[in-house]
Amino acid sequence: MAKIMRTERVEQKIVVQTQCDICKKLAEGDGPDGWLSLSSGHSEWGNDSVDSMDHHDVCSYACCMTAVREVFDRFGEYESLYMDVGSLDQRFLKDMLESVDGGDRG
Ligand SMILES: [Zn+2]
Repeated sequence: MAKIMRTERVEQKIVVQTQCDICKKLAEGDGPDGWLSLSSGHSEWGNDSVDSMDHHDVCSYACCMTAVREVFDRFGEYESLYMDVGSLDQRFLKDMLESVDGGDRG
């Protein structure tokens, strides 16, 4: 069996720069060194669990903490809140946030 070939050019979108969602800094490429990707959401019933799904690219520890704080401020009351920051889990992040705030957050 022979295969009949033709040549095609395919247009492709490629990431050329990444922007920090917090401080709006730009860096070359997709996922620059030292940056983190943060995904979050919750899985309660209803449409708001879809609306809760979020993704941030952050450039630094400070911007990461700001993004984590925003997620806890919006969805901290949900039992099913999840947050993936690199390999850090939600409990670790909450501890980190509380240590930064001096432990005065409820
Ligand atoms: Zn930043």
